Amino acid sequence: MSAVRLRAFFIVGAIFLIVALGALARPASVNSLTRRPASASSDSVSAKPDEAKPNVDWQVIKVGLRDYLSADNIAAFYGLRANVDATGKSVLLNNSRNQLQLTSESREAVVNGVRNWLCFPVVAQDGKFLVSRIDLAKTIEPQLRPHMIQNKGKVQTVVLDAGHGGFDKGAGSRDGLEKGYTLDVARRLRPLLQSRGFKVIMTRENDVFLPLELRAHIANQTRDSIFVSIHFNATSNRDARGFEIFSLTPRGAPSTADDALALSFLNMQEGSAVDAQSFELSASVYHSMLGHIPRFDRGIKRARFAVLRKTKIPAILVEGGFLSQTDDSKLVANTAWRGKLAEAIAVGIENYRNATEKKQRPMLVADYHGKDASGITLLNLAQPPARLENPAAPDVAANPGVDPNKEP
Ligand SMILES: [Zn+2]
Repeated sequence: MSAVRLRAFFIVGAIFLIVALGALARPASVNSLTRRPASASSDSVSAKPDEAKPNVDWQVIKVGLRDYLSADNIAAFYGLRANVDATGKSVLLNNSRNQLQLTSESREAVVNGVRNWLCFPVVAQDGKFLVSRIDLAKTIEPQLRPHMIQNKGKVQTVVLDAGHGGFDKGAGSRDGLEKGYTLDVARRLRPLLQSRGFKVIMTRENDVFLPLELRAHIANQTRDSIFVSIHFNATSNRDARGFEIFSLTPRGAPSTADDALALSFLNMQEGSAVDAQSFELSASVYHSMLGHIPRFDRGIKRARFAVLRKTKIPAILVEGGFLSQTDDSKLVANTAWRGKLAEAIAVGIENYRNATEKKQRPMLVADYHGKDASGITLLNLAQPPARLENPAAPDVAANPGVDPNKEP
């Protein structure tokens, strides 16, 4: 077969794949978006009249094969004011309860005071800021209306997963190894959760190696439970620092570390029946971490790490700082600081339980600082973390470095 014909076959195949994946990625029909912008499934709860405007129609805009919604449309639905900044590149949507900051051509957004990574960049078109439907459904909606997340079970048990162990040392600094720090934080977290009425199961209690599949298997044996995996980061960029947190990438979307415009991301179809719950757990714990400990905000991210992919219960992976960076590694080596980190994670988990069982909105970083939503500090998105960290490494924020235990 000639190269030209081969290429034609490839192109036709690729187009077919794109169309198929586009259909998969659509979380709901256009009609159901009218009242329920974000529900991935057939939930039946309608919007609370004081919060959203269910009579606002969604105007779906096609860009290529993907569906987008305009920032104005989102503002109208959620009852937010929209203000474009002086550069014309960023728009802030807010009211007294919620804040959403979007920047054109960027995957970086700020939702209620913390950095979020969208699956696809915001598109600038005809003076509009366009957000992909999958980002609206999977990232924005669960944070603006957490009470709309369906099928939240009880949270009685927390499966605590201390990353690495045994011959798998994880990352390391001059002061210690990741496998030891993760176990120490898990051990500190256990009594803090027990005192809050949770049952705790540890995937490992000692310095032993445990395959990722076994960690997920332990989680999947539990009922009314959540899974919290604890890790510390490392990367060759010695300036990279701060917290980040991961939940499973939604079906049909690239992970944060993938190139959103390439179609080469792996396992794109993988998703989870509980991804909204996992995402809310991730946001709840992350706000508490930054609310208790002012470290650099690397953001709420998505990945298809094995422990997130293989667990069937709400699952998150916490990265508590960089062992490859001097300031972070000194903090992590400090026993009292690790106790503080454990406390922050415990409060975040408790907040998630309150959101799940009592429908209480999880505390935001501004709440921990005693401010209302109008007092949320705006991040300067013209200064992405990469530039703050190292001008020579523009991708560091999206590519947190290799952590061999996170992938099989
Ligand atoms: Zn790790």
